[in-house]
Amino acid sequence: MGVLETSHGVVETPCLVPVATQAVVKTLESKEVEQTKSQILIANTFWLHLRPGEKIVDKAGGIHKFMNWKKPLMTDSAGYQVFSLGFGKDFGVGKFSSANQIFPAARPALSQGGAHSPRKNLLADEIRVGQQPKSLKITPDGVFFRSPINGDELFIGPKESIKIQEKIGADIIFAFDECTPPLADYNYVKKSLEKTHKWAKTCLKSKKTKQSLYGIVQGSRFKDLRLESAKFIGKMDFDGFGIGGEFGKDKKTMGQMVQWVVDELPEKKPRHLLGVGYLEDMELIIKSGVDTFDCTVPTHYARRGIAFTSEGKLNLNQIKFLKKNEPLDKNCTCSVCLNYKKDYICHLLRAKEITALKLITFHNLWYFNNFVDDIKLKIKEGKI
Ligand SMILES: [Zn+2]
Repeated sequence: MGVLETSHGVVETPCLVPVATQAVVKTLESKEVEQTKSQILIANTFWLHLRPGEKIVDKAGGIHKFMNWKKPLMTDSAGYQVFSLGFGKDFGVGKFSSANQIFPAARPALSQGGAHSPRKNLLADEIRVGQQPKSLKITPDGVFFRSPINGDELFIGPKESIKIQEKIGADIIFAFDECTPPLADYNYVKKSLEKTHKWAKTCLKSKKTKQSLYGIVQGSRFKDLRLESAKFIGKMDFDGFGIGGEFGKDKKTMGQMVQWVVDELPEKKPRHLLGVGYLEDMELIIKSGVDTFDCTVPTHYARRGIAFTSEGKLNLNQIKFLKKNEPLDKNCTCSVCLNYKKDYICHLLRAKEITALKLITFHNLWYFNNFVDDIKLKIKEGKI
């Protein structure tokens, strides 16, 4: 437990970093996000580069002014999009390699044998050295993308990523990396690490601003590669470190993998876990020594009508909630729970009123932030 100092104030760690992909936490205005006790946000370099473009953000006085968020901010490096728009899209996979995270329907190549052909199970080691994703090209110097907005070709490498992030102007920025897919074999990941490490050097050399720059550790599920990457990146002159990529076949393995990396990184510098933060992961993440972690779970689920509560996940779309004249969570003291009831929120969802999404997003963020605070307290009291 500690503090992270930034040019826009101090963040008490460990803490969740809500995701503001397009310079907004979807459905909420910045003032409301602050009221959920959120301390720091992460915006997305790739999407902001495409729209509105970093020049517009820079002209507005930087991202803080642009979105009227006065607290600390991070931007990722666009390295995650190398995965999500590349092999992640081709294979329909997420960051965990377990079967329930893999959606074969999203893999067109599998249906070539006709509608009745048996689906092959996706296994790790399907992606080998030399293989390229369908819609982007990974080169030793960077990545050629196709804009998902208009199909334009664009190139982002370490220099470009840093330049864009400097213009956006967050307090903490990340080095450009290749986030490797869970289906990549050992040799692919080993080769990819060479790129990520080379790009880390270029990022350090390119940065001209006073923004904090975090290096990213990759290495997928392979212990020796994770350790190699943590040692290599950990020795460099970064202000902090991101832990990215795949985290194994289940949550337990994830804890182990994060621990390998954290143990290798310099103790005095902050560590950020990229893109992981289910409620059930948090204790493990925090205990492993991670300071900050970003995750779309509270906001993403909220927009599907799901509230996180002390009684578990509630799907407010279900008609039974129309008969429940009680708050989302009776133990919650957020302004939504103090002022609105399940019946009303359920009605708004069924009537497709957008305010429903806003109310649940607010509650979920508050709930997640409190959840982290509770874990901190338990650690302090020696209960876990
Ligand atoms: Zn609440």
